[in-house]
Amino acid sequence: MHSFILPPTKTVADLTRAARERILILDGAMGTQIQTLGLDEDDFRGHGGQCCSFHSDHPQKGNNDLLILTQPKAIEDIHYAFAKAGADIVETNTFSSTTIAQADYAMEQAVFDLNVEGARVARRALDRATAEDGRPRWVAGAVGPTNRTASISPDVNDPGYRAVTFDDLRRAYGQQIRGLIAGGADLILIETIFDTLNAKAAIFACFEAFAEHGARLPIMISGTITDASGRTLSGQTPTAFWHSVRHARPFSVGLNCALGADAMRPHLAELSAVADTRICAYPNAGLPNAFGKYDEEPEDTAAKVEVFAREGLVNLVGGCCGTTPEHIRAIAEHVASYAPRQIEETADA
Ligand SMILES: [Zn+2]
Repeated sequence: MHSFILPPTKTVADLTRAARERILILDGAMGTQIQTLGLDEDDFRGHGGQCCSFHSDHPQKGNNDLLILTQPKAIEDIHYAFAKAGADIVETNTFSSTTIAQADYAMEQAVFDLNVEGARVARRALDRATAEDGRPRWVAGAVGPTNRTASISPDVNDPGYRAVTFDDLRRAYGQQIRGLIAGGADLILIETIFDTLNAKAAIFACFEAFAEHGARLPIMISGTITDASGRTLSGQTPTAFWHSVRHARPFSVGLNCALGADAMRPHLAELSAVADTRICAYPNAGLPNAFGKYDEEPEDTAAKVEVFAREGLVNLVGGCCGTTPEHIRAIAEHVASYAPRQIEETADA
């Protein structure tokens, strides 16, 4: 595909240069910030409960992505708060903006708009911040794992059954990624990967969308280690995970979410030893308490993330569940004096 050998855009060149100079900062959790707003069903639907321009009889409370269309100013303000706290890269609020994930809310018809507007609202927030301080910032189009797994049966009595296929995922991700590109995303971030086959469908969808678009966006790939055995849900060690996704020639590979920074460190060290690209880590604010809330203090999370930097394991860091703008500010301060992990740069990474 000839489009892959086009020279990088200025945006990508600027990003690559910044990553060479310092550890880049990602934003924190959108969900935690949305919770603090205390929105009810009418707020989620927006416009006095009309449900934006799309109709669904299904309750929408909890459909955080829909707020891109129904409460865009609130979402923009959260992005802006993370940008001002020190985030170089801000993720769109599109973790569940695929037809597969939106089926839970009967909101599949909104998916393309969610992604286009999701990228635009993030761009607006970053442009506001940059107008004030002149710092460049990048929009990462967030692509979540969906709520189905292509390599494991959800039915214990029928291990051969699959609730979703590679092609279902490829199509759904393709629609999402085209929307993110149309809205102006600078990168694509495939995150919280618990099933590598889902991620491979997203990677394939990126290749198809980039070929149509005529330019390749940097891809960030982030897996999640869900249990103490140090494997993803689909059973891979960090090394196996890397070998499964390295054909994407990603801008970065890394880990997010799951068990907090302490538990992430050995898995990150393993990935850092094998991957010939940048390493990205954005852990949760510790482990959830008995109420499912994250209460690790910003200084505590930041001190743990600083260990990654001190050991030379990372090129990008940020926060996942439970991390606030205060966490991101503390993380940015703690890693500022450390050099990024050294990598040999290839032409397209
Ligand atoms: Zn998380």
